[in-house]
Amino acid sequence: MYPDSAVSVEGLINGIEYAVYKAKASNSDIPYYCGQEMLEELRRRDKIVEILKDKIKHNSLDVFYQPIMSTKTHKFVLAESLLRIVDSPIGPIFPDEFIPIAEETGMIIEMTYQVLDKVCKFINRLENLGIELEGIHVNFSALQFNQIDLIERMSEIIERNETPYSKIKVEITESVLSKNNHLVIEFAEEMHKRGVLLGLDDFGTGYSNIGSVMDTPLDTVKIDKSIVWASANGMRSEIMLKSMTQIFHQMDLKVVAEGVETEEQNRFSEECEIDLIQGYYFARPMPEEDAIKALMA
Ligand code: C2E
Ligand code: CA
Ligand code: CA
Repeated sequence: MYPDSAVSVEGLINGIEYAVYKAKASNSDIPYYCGQEMLEELRRRDKIVEILKDKIKHNSLDVFYQPIMSTKTHKFVLAESLLRIVDSPIGPIFPDEFIPIAEETGMIIEMTYQVLDKVCKFINRLENLGIELEGIHVNFSALQFNQIDLIERMSEIIERNETPYSKIKVEITESVLSKNNHLVIEFAEEMHKRGVLLGLDDFGTGYSNIGSVMDTPLDTVKIDKSIVWASANGMRSEIMLKSMTQIFHQMDLKVVAEGVETEEQNRFSEECEIDLIQGYYFARPMPEEDAIKALMA
């Protein structure tokens, strides 16, 4: 609505585009109107886009680390890197909000390379401090696999930092597997030769297609927190979790339980013979300095 919604043609078109985007993203058939509420959202989104651009330009995105516990040794043996925006002109921004925006705009591609670079430096720091760790997990979005120079760029970053390839584990979700199957397999096979490991994330939330799991050279499968929570509550998924873990073990895959928050969920995961546990019960995602202290303990 001119001039209430916007005073320029660009502004109006932006509003229309955003309403169309929202309508397409929803599963309902209700009409979408770019009113005051949507305009506020759009403005916040534009601000976040600017913040992300600025952070990429200055390589100033924050990376937190969440330690992962081995059920065999009861020691932290791995950690997952997680993007954070701790500080910005509009305050802290949560990943659930800025990651989808980074994906829609394609900025996630550069962000991932920056995360990888920081992770390499972190691994080197741990090494210098004499902290033994199997590796650090890095999250990859589907978009990453459309980059023809993905392997070159990754290798360039890892080699420039002189970090062992084998200390990097790339986490992908099932939807990445289903969308870019042959690209992912090609990538996995090439990086596998160099020593990089591949882990499947959020298992149980997507298609849970065992076929695609079998065809990909994976090292770990991470069970999504929703399944862990439901199973520990004695739901029917408990049976599934136990049998799935057995199947994955037979396939030579390690199983990670995510979102373990309580003693009960922890005990249950151990009962299921899950290999690795990630969750608030043992450690939250934390800044590099705190992560070093936790990993040293
Ligand atoms: P994800 O890859 O599934 O990451 C695990 C999420 O579970 C993290 O949320 C972590 O903080 C949370 N979590 C871990 N343990 C617990 C627990 O015990 N209880 C609960 N309630 N939550 C737990 P976070 O950091 O907010 O990240 C959300 C999502 O944002 C990630 O989900 C991932 O999809 C995305 N993300 C974060 N960092 C990156 C990144 O560097 N690259 C990409 N592509 N995506 C990222
Ligand atoms: Ca992950
Ligand atoms: Ca996950």
